[in-house]
Amino acid sequence: MDYRTDIPPTFSLVVPVYNEQDVLETFYSRLTAEFDKLGEPSEIVFVNDGSTDGTAAILRRLAGEDRRVRVVEFSRNFGHQTALTAGYDYAAGRAVISLDADCQHPPELIGQLVARWREGFEVVYTVRTGMPGESGLYARLRRLGYRLLRLSSGQDLSNQADFRLLDRKALDALKAHRESGRFLRGLVRHIGFRQSAVPYKAARRAAGKRSYTMKQTLEMSAVGAVYFSLKPLRLAYGLGGLLLGAAAVYIVAALALWGMGRPLPWPASLAAGIAALFGCQFLLLGLLGEYVGRTFEQTKGRPLYVVRETLGFAPAAGRSARDGESRENRYVLYT
Ligand code: UDP
Ligand code: MG
Repeated sequence: MDYRTDIPPTFSLVVPVYNEQDVLETFYSRLTAEFDKLGEPSEIVFVNDGSTDGTAAILRRLAGEDRRVRVVEFSRNFGHQTALTAGYDYAAGRAVISLDADCQHPPELIGQLVARWREGFEVVYTVRTGMPGESGLYARLRRLGYRLLRLSSGQDLSNQADFRLLDRKALDALKAHRESGRFLRGLVRHIGFRQSAVPYKAARRAAGKRSYTMKQTLEMSAVGAVYFSLKPLRLAYGLGGLLLGAAAVYIVAALALWGMGRPLPWPASLAAGIAALFGCQFLLLGLLGEYVGRTFEQTKGRPLYVVRETLGFAPAAGRSARDGESRENRYVLYT
């Protein structure tokens, strides 16, 4: 809703911003050029994620000059994924497009995303085909993170960034997922809906420098790998089974040799005994992990399922989208 004109926007653009004073103006002019082409009511939601440079002042000025600009000002730096979440919360459009402020996600692609949305896709995500300006180590870390994620959850999200269009329905479903360790790319895949991919060539940062630290990159990979599967927890089962198996093989072999009158030296038996004990311990640890994992799943408080639409129901009270999203009901329902 444009609170100043009462016209609900068709498009919302969500942009998390952290210390981007050098690039913000360029970004804004490239963005508005694309927006003007769309020719529909639109808004730009900037989320200032606790910038310490001149970003806040620039955003304030833009909001004063352009009635489509809204600014959500964080009290401190909460991180990219949280800033993006806030932008999604504040966006009012029927289609919401998120992209970075550093021009690495070319605003010129917006037209293509919108075209897919008009074809009926509810999630239009982008896949980058080149990643210039990334050091070897970063690229390697990134790939490792995606490999871990693929191993643990079977999701292949390599070369995707948070540059996407979400239809209102998909966005509301996403918003019902309030888990604290946020990995939006995984969640967007998780919610389903009709999804379509648009390839693009990632650009270099227009100016400024990357604010994601090595630590954040690693954290993000860990969140991705852990939040979408309990497989890592179940490693203990595998290890326990392996050790017990080895001990069992030893016992059989030792008994056979003993029967043939060639008993094995005692240290070997001791080692087998230790392996058996550790095996038991790991199995129990796996079991414990199972309970912890179930509790973890529960605390994420995800909706159990997401409904795109229902047909043939009376529009009864209590079946509104708002009710469906309540924590008691555990589902998202649109009528
Ligand atoms: N960003 C943010 N909070 C942070 C770090 C980054 O809102 O704590 C924003 C940043 O301004 C940019 C986007 O998130 O618009 C991506 O950040 P960056 O370019 O540093 O990451 P990269 O593109 O290298 O993954
Ligand atoms: Mg960037």
